[in-house]
Amino acid sequence: MIPSAFDYRRASSVEEALSLLQSTEDAKFVAGGHSLLPLMKMRFASPGMLIDIRSIQELQSIRRDGNRVVIGALCTHRHIANDETIVQALPALAEAAGRVGDLQVRNRGTIGGNLAHADPASDLPALALLYGATIHAEGPDGPEDYPVEEFFLGPMTTALRPTQLLRSVSFPVPDRGSEVYEKFAHPASGYAVVGVAAWVATDAGGIIQDIRVALNGVGYCAYRATSVEQALFGREATEELLEKASHLATEEVEVLEDVFASENYRRHVAAVFTRRAIRRALDKATR
Ligand SMILES: Cc1cc2nc3c(=O)[nH]c(=O)nc-3n(C[C@H](O)[C@H](O)[C@H](O)COP(=O)(O)OP(=O)(O)OC[C@H]3O[C@@H](n4cnc5c(N)ncnc54)[C@H](O)[C@@H]3O)c2cc1C
Repeated sequence: MIPSAFDYRRASSVEEALSLLQSTEDAKFVAGGHSLLPLMKMRFASPGMLIDIRSIQELQSIRRDGNRVVIGALCTHRHIANDETIVQALPALAEAAGRVGDLQVRNRGTIGGNLAHADPASDLPALALLYGATIHAEGPDGPEDYPVEEFFLGPMTTALRPTQLLRSVSFPVPDRGSEVYEKFAHPASGYAVVGVAAWVATDAGGIIQDIRVALNGVGYCAYRATSVEQALFGREATEELLEKASHLATEEVEVLEDVFASENYRRHVAAVFTRRAIRRALDKATR
């Protein structure tokens, strides 16, 4: 439980953080430290230098920019859960951030760290997929944007290069429909055994005009359940159809199995929580 020795530097700007990163081969950024430090204590990671980015002011803001909300990488889960702009414009994101871990984790953990770390059981990757977010990075060659569909590559693996800093994430604000996040949380850590984000827009007759469903905790990384979306698109979501469609939630992935949940159990919970999320999104007042 004791990490290897490492140097520690604190950066006060993005430029300083990037230049420190280039100066050493095995340096790593630390934000909230709630994923990196446990890995270091177990010696699964042994960086030679930690570059603390926590005091970089420009990465700590949330702002509305036209039809998007731009969230700085260092915004904590608590900040996101309570920010009025996010509560109004991206309610499922606020809901998910408010359900991350416990109060201490929400006070320290950041959206940048959460997405860069890409733990399969983390909550925010599914929300980034649900809204179709863009991840904005900065590196020695300048800025680079990643559409979220190209960002998560596998367990704890993203498209972000080792030389890049995740600067912010921008979320388009849906102009119709309703969205929710449902989670079957691990009772000790709060991590998602299964997490389902759903966004649905219907016409006046209850026919589904648009639908997005994204899951975490189930596969090796967060994913869109396109089979569920296709089964419901253009149709009225009767209980019978919803029940049938929800069972397609694990159709496109290899389902995880671990000490918390067997493959079959996780598959079952994924179907139950998919149905629950879509039903609640449908029942919410539409925009
Ligand atoms: C007890 C416990 C319970 C938790 N429960 C949940 C939960 O229910 N749901 C959930 O989603 N999460 C959960 N977490 C994780 C937590 O929410 C943090 O979001 C997560 O640990 C990563 O954020 P961080 O700021 O702590 O990142 P750090 O630990 O500081 O960094 C994680 C990784 O990301 C890299 N990194 C960090 N910031 C940047 C950046 N701006 N640019 C590039 N790379 C960067 C680091 O180099 C490191 O590799 C839990 C953690 C703990 C300890």
